[in-house]
Amino acid sequence: GEYGPEQPGRVIAHFGRTLEVSSSTSDRTYRCHLRANLDSLVTGDRVVWREGGDGSGVVVARSERDNVLERPDARGQLKPVAANIDQILIVFAVEPAAYANLIDRYLVAAEATGIPPVLVLNKSDLLPAEGGELRELLRRYEALGYPVITTSTQRIDGLDALHRRLTGCTSVFVGQSGVGKSSLIDRLLPDEALRIGDLSSDSRKGTHTTTTARLYRLPAGGELIDSPGIREFGLTHLDARQVTEGFIEFRQFLGHCRFRDCRHRADPGCALTAAVERGEIHPERFASYRRILDSLDHELR
Ligand code: GDP
Ligand code: ZN
Repeated sequence: GEYGPEQPGRVIAHFGRTLEVSSSTSDRTYRCHLRANLDSLVTGDRVVWREGGDGSGVVVARSERDNVLERPDARGQLKPVAANIDQILIVFAVEPAAYANLIDRYLVAAEATGIPPVLVLNKSDLLPAEGGELRELLRRYEALGYPVITTSTQRIDGLDALHRRLTGCTSVFVGQSGVGKSSLIDRLLPDEALRIGDLSSDSRKGTHTTTTARLYRLPAGGELIDSPGIREFGLTHLDARQVTEGFIEFRQFLGHCRFRDCRHRADPGCALTAAVERGEIHPERFASYRRILDSLDHELR
């Protein structure tokens, strides 16, 4: 057939080898197939494509990925699910109550991807008027350099700050079930954007739609990539090195332990333990680190 000139686009969703691609020159999306010589693509990939008429097209090339979010498949092998993400919003809540070790697990998983994390504490309407351990905890993460946003979808609190955070970049939301991710996303996206997904339902027949990520355009600019699989990100397997490096304040001390194979437990001359004693690493963060390592040992057994 006849194809138009090459143009840049982005993968909005994919259904096997059929892709939905956004044009960077219009608001339309196009149903594209993939040139046979191309590897499979994921949502968020930047591509070069050519229009073929009737809302169709062909993808001819993929741009290099800035980063990729991976999830284990049924056989435990890591598979890319989304690409070119600027930030991971880790959502937690006042109820079900957030706790430090869970937040640390998500942070470690985010750090392992190289994509900057942002902490979002939702259900702020349930926070006690003052004090509270959660506020204290949040200050600790802010001191480490992590951005923290407090939101409520019930009282419409912090949603402007969240909007500003999301504008102009590509984000994903992750976090435990029940913390309010769907509620937040409903507030961020106009009904129109959510309906776009329904329009392509005919092309989804026979595919595992629940695991397919979709890219949504935010009204003020910026994109959100969402899928059930992405929301569960963070509960994946990590290795010990990723865990150690995922505690960002530890990094300056790594390489200063007396023994190169220091396990940072009761090892003599451990630079991390010494930093805890000097008050340069928070003892609770160090305890949390140990707990995550212990759980890895448990998984391996
Ligand atoms: P998800 O599983 O993370 O997508 O969470 P949902 O968005 O489904 O929300 C779980 C429950 O929390 C629902 O009953 C929501 O109505 C409720 N919820 C969501 N946001 C808030 C909030 O800001 N404050 C309160 N009190 N409840 C909320
Ligand atoms: Zn050590």
